[in-house]
Amino acid sequence: MGIVDEDIAKVRAATDFVALAGEHLALRRVGTRWVGLCPFHAENSPSFSVNSELGLYYCFGCGAKGDVITFVREIEHLDFVEAVEKLAGRSGITLRYDDQGGGRSGDQLRRARIYETLEKAIEWYHQRLLSGSDSSRARHYLRAERGYDGDLVRRFRIGWAPDGWDTLVKNLGVPKKDLVDAGLATVDSSGRHTDFFRARILFPIFEPAGKPIGAGGRMLPGGRPPKYKNTSGTAVYDKSRVLYGLNWAKKDVVDKGRVVVCEGYTDVIGLHEAGVGEAVATCGTALADGHIRLLTNFARKIVLAYDADVAGQAAAERFYEWEDRFQVDIRVAAIPAGADPADLARSDPEALLKAVEEARPFLGFRIERLLARSDLSSPESRVRAAGEAMALIREHPSELVRDQYLMTVADRCRIDPNRLRNMSSQRPVADHREADREHVQRPAPVTVSGAELEALRLAVHRPEEVASQLEAVLFEHPIARSAFDVLSSASTLHEAIDAADPQTADLLQRLAVEDSEAAAGDVMTRLVERAGQRALKELQAQMRQVDASAQADFAPTIAWLKLALESLRPEDGKLADATDAQKGLVRWLSAWEQTGTATGIAQAGTNTQSEASS
Ligand SMILES: [Zn+2]
Repeated sequence: MGIVDEDIAKVRAATDFVALAGEHLALRRVGTRWVGLCPFHAENSPSFSVNSELGLYYCFGCGAKGDVITFVREIEHLDFVEAVEKLAGRSGITLRYDDQGGGRSGDQLRRARIYETLEKAIEWYHQRLLSGSDSSRARHYLRAERGYDGDLVRRFRIGWAPDGWDTLVKNLGVPKKDLVDAGLATVDSSGRHTDFFRARILFPIFEPAGKPIGAGGRMLPGGRPPKYKNTSGTAVYDKSRVLYGLNWAKKDVVDKGRVVVCEGYTDVIGLHEAGVGEAVATCGTALADGHIRLLTNFARKIVLAYDADVAGQAAAERFYEWEDRFQVDIRVAAIPAGADPADLARSDPEALLKAVEEARPFLGFRIERLLARSDLSSPESRVRAAGEAMALIREHPSELVRDQYLMTVADRCRIDPNRLRNMSSQRPVADHREADREHVQRPAPVTVSGAELEALRLAVHRPEEVASQLEAVLFEHPIARSAFDVLSSASTLHEAIDAADPQTADLLQRLAVEDSEAAAGDVMTRLVERAGQRALKELQAQMRQVDASAQADFAPTIAWLKLALESLRPEDGKLADATDAQKGLVRWLSAWEQTGTATGIAQAGTNTQSEASS
């Protein structure tokens, strides 16, 4: 089943690439392009560029490239039709199919309905908290126990789910099936629908771009456990990839290059209130691959703000693996044991800020905790502590890092570092990971450069300024030339890219996201000059290979060519003459290339010469 081409083009044109990509990574405007951290490979400085006008992206780091459709396919692992359908849904375009199929896919309609239902429900719960007669206890709890005022409640759209079996089901005015799909209601075997959240304070959860995807509900003191109840899996909610607060934190995360991950909704709010706007939380689950992958789109430094005991028991191996695989730097903020960031944010915001600022690498944090707990007063106890510390150190995959911490332990436990080294001479199993660190495939470099590159860039971005003056003969580099060929025979850049061979397509994609500030006139002069000089060298070489009598045939052409080259940059600034000289030279070059032979050269040269001088 194929979507008609016209509709695919419509979808491309209707999609705002920057808005779309912005849901997956943070983009910053640089000149006419947008750049950000590539979602397709791990990197610390942004190589991912988007040209919003042309709807194309290119990554200078890993070579990922394409248009909006490719982007959606790659990032959401969809096939072509699914990607087009998804984009069509966003833009409200009704797709037509080559054969009978028609309309958006059922799955897509279902997701759209879930978002709508959640949006409605979250607003309903929020209003219920603000003004419902049954929510005064919840309001009192938030104000008295949490210190939340009305502004804060509005900012985070906190709500109240009433204590009834089916208050939402009966009052929201949404089909029951949609409520079930959105995770807001359950249905039992007798077909009876029940509210999923009852007698709970609701913290709505949004995806990074701001669409609601679910909620977390906290019971009031003395309520029915569990203390927290979160949306369970729906078509739009996968807890291993959901981070509460990322929609609000996104900007700060990018600005600070750091994200603070905590465990609860109130921790996020507390951190935001204490001035740590880059805080997010996992929702009822431990940090997982999917969270890290999502976070790497925004920042590479991850600070865990957990209760110290929780942090200390976290699985070290996973952290090291993430640091290696996603090239992230994971640190731990020393939140006092038994406290959580939400408490600390109220009781001692300064201490909270300090803990975040002074977050240590995970291994350093664990060793510090171990040594702080250990008795270091006797030789026996120091050796025991060193042994325990070495067990932690051995888990780290990098030998250099291991050795750094070994020195610290040797120092603190007053043991000769070499003795400690011998103690830990077995290589840890994790070492094999270092071998596949270089997992990013870089594309073969395209070496088109200088005026040829500039001219192509202009042909892509400002064709009206150069298209009429460009000729194939002006391009020496085979890829530049083939880029020019496809550009001049296609009506759009997308068409040109489709028609190009892989290397040429790569060059075009790259050009599409590059700025061009060059002056067209200057680029053309340099380009024509270089082509003229190449021709001159070629002619001189050919002349040297023929006998003296034939050499005379070359003389007028060479003389004319030299003069034409000089006229390209007139000393007295006669621009009109220079333009004529340039046009004449380009005409001659094209003719010369087509005829090629020595006589042909002379004739073409002579003809053009007389034409140019008439
Ligand atoms: Zn990349």
